[in-house]
Amino acid sequence: MMFKKKVISKFNILIVEDNDETFKELKEVLAGTNYKLWRVSTGSKALKLAKDINFMVIISELLLFDINGIELVKKFKKISRQTNIIMLTAYMVSNELAVNAMKEGAFAYLQKPLNGEEVKLVLERAMENRVLLSQVKRKDYYQIISRLDGLTGLYNYRYLQQALDGIIRHLRRFPQTFSFFMIDIDYFKKYNDTKGHFEGDKVLCSLARLLEQSVRGTDMIFRYGGEEFSVILPQTQSKDAEKVGQRMIESARKKIPVTISMGLAAFPTHSQTKEGLIVGADKALYRAKESGRNRICVFDEKIDK
Ligand code: GH3
Ligand code: MG
Ligand code: MG
Repeated sequence: MMFKKKVISKFNILIVEDNDETFKELKEVLAGTNYKLWRVSTGSKALKLAKDINFMVIISELLLFDINGIELVKKFKKISRQTNIIMLTAYMVSNELAVNAMKEGAFAYLQKPLNGEEVKLVLERAMENRVLLSQVKRKDYYQIISRLDGLTGLYNYRYLQQALDGIIRHLRRFPQTFSFFMIDIDYFKKYNDTKGHFEGDKVLCSLARLLEQSVRGTDMIFRYGGEEFSVILPQTQSKDAEKVGQRMIESARKKIPVTISMGLAAFPTHSQTKEGLIVGADKALYRAKESGRNRICVFDEKIDK
């Protein structure tokens, strides 16, 4: 797992310093702390090392022989956006350069002659910031994972519920139409029974990719469960959504070994609640199955009781 590696290396600090005296100073200031110090004397060596080792903080001389500080910050940030970089400026002469380095994303700069307390303080801040960032990232990661279906990589049932709740809550204040599909594979039991479950799973994944290719970036696709999928099409009237659905059915027929049936219900035309929308689309789907499969039906209050 990605995180394991990061946790193990969390106390690595890289010092990019060509001056032995300055390095010695830093080493003394940080003696007895929990940091593992690495030292290189050129920018190119630093960049090479930063690709292999995940540094919590990089402390770098602003004016190195081979690369200027601003370029270095840009390149470090490309390797890892989360690494905090502290620049060391030489004897008050390169203030402007230091400010530019900050604009490129450096965390702070320290002026020489170094003050031990200040070094420790800034370093501590940089560490705290880094820990906060990685916690936010980890939270994002788990949040993303918890929304996805393991087999297809689409959003899962749980997130469908959350997404519909969120959208409907929003649209009560800012009224707008959206469309909702329920999709079900035709005769999928038979496919599984003849080709085996593994081939069946492959079809579920192919259908997921095909659905992704048929929609706009703002549309959301979910695996509702088993061999059933749902799609939310924001700001789409049912007439337009029906065309999208027809294209999906068409490409399933051409590209994968099963056909699909679809039911469509629109908010707020057909229902103004989450439950009503799902039931409506499901009833329309049922009618699509009954009337021969491999087609889309739009919810109709008069027929779909
Ligand atoms: P219909 O056209 O009426 O939808 O017929 P069907 O056979 O698709 O419907 P039914 O609901 O009877 O069967 C659904 C089948 O889908 C049951 C099971 O074999 C298959 N299925 C459900 N989930 C999965 C899955 O995760 N992987 C695989 N391979 N098959 C699944
Ligand atoms: Mg089914
Ligand atoms: Mg089915």
